[in-house]
Amino acid sequence: MKITDIRLAKISVPLRVPFKTALRTVDSVEDVIVEIHTDTGLVGYGEAPPTGAITGDTTGAILGALRDHIIPALRGQSLEEFEPLMKRLQKAVVHNTSAKAAVDIALYDLYGKMLGAPVYQLLGASRRSITTDITISVNPPEEMARDALVALARGYDTLKIKVGIDPTLDVARLCAVRQAVGPDIRLRIDANQAWTPKQAVMLLNQMQEKGLDIELVEQPVAGRDFAGLKYVTERSYVPVMADESVFSAEDAMTIMQMGAADLINIKLMKCGGLYNALKIASAAEVFGVECMIGCMLEAKVSVNAAVHLACAKSIITKVDLDGPVLCSEDPVDGGSVFDEKIITVSDAPGLGVTGIRGLQYLD
Ligand code: MG
Repeated sequence: MKITDIRLAKISVPLRVPFKTALRTVDSVEDVIVEIHTDTGLVGYGEAPPTGAITGDTTGAILGALRDHIIPALRGQSLEEFEPLMKRLQKAVVHNTSAKAAVDIALYDLYGKMLGAPVYQLLGASRRSITTDITISVNPPEEMARDALVALARGYDTLKIKVGIDPTLDVARLCAVRQAVGPDIRLRIDANQAWTPKQAVMLLNQMQEKGLDIELVEQPVAGRDFAGLKYVTERSYVPVMADESVFSAEDAMTIMQMGAADLINIKLMKCGGLYNALKIASAAEVFGVECMIGCMLEAKVSVNAAVHLACAKSIITKVDLDGPVLCSEDPVDGGSVFDEKIITVSDAPGLGVTGIRGLQYLD
């Protein structure tokens, strides 16, 4: 099975409400879609969201990396030699992990379709359904408490609370949410690099002393500040998860060797797709470090690929795949079923996506 053509398109899906973190505010999902066509007629689908504030990958950068480097490197290549193909993709251009992830996802989709098996089964098949949290955007405390109650009414029992804009409000934010939701709801928080190491230790320990019962904190300090992350991990009662610190298996290894974090957040857009995500998961297995699977604000094509990874690997014990349920509509046919907190993987071959409505082709 040979790659004959790679087509690029854009997709636009409005969010239910604006998404706000310490890094950015977003109103809609505006992603690049990759369609890989083959001489068998089979088509593989991938997706990349522009997240300039996190990965540096803007829409223009994603399209440029695909057109100038990745597509010329892959056209005419064979799916039967899968590992050389993945290496070719990763070597086509440095960085540009979102563009690589979109193509990696489409290639895994085709590989599964070629073999007649769902990708999660090819990778390990540890379960068929997973339970996701939902994100509460960072806002004034009362508004966040109201948003938390809306999430509970939708059936969620784990909330990921964004903090870090005006950190003096962060303890009050968590107090307001905990008071609104009661003691049985799991609260995890994400500072998106907003705190200094000392500020992080002070705020996290204040939260624990108030009995707010925080499950974990994601990325309290700057992504490249591994020493600062370790400082927080050693001094905080709250377990620390590395997110923006881990863009590769090498980053994950360094963090785990240093003991700089208790947990790792894997995202396909940070590491360049399933091929590299599997390396992070394997390294984490060796160190016995549990992982979360996360996503950016993405529609269902790429989040669906993350679902296959999570259903394959039991080292992934926490799931933050709420991109599709934050969208007001779902233009993707096939793939995993997102029923609020419960996500069930598809047993169709590949990643199970059969088509995408409303695409604007760019070629
Ligand atoms: Mg995060």
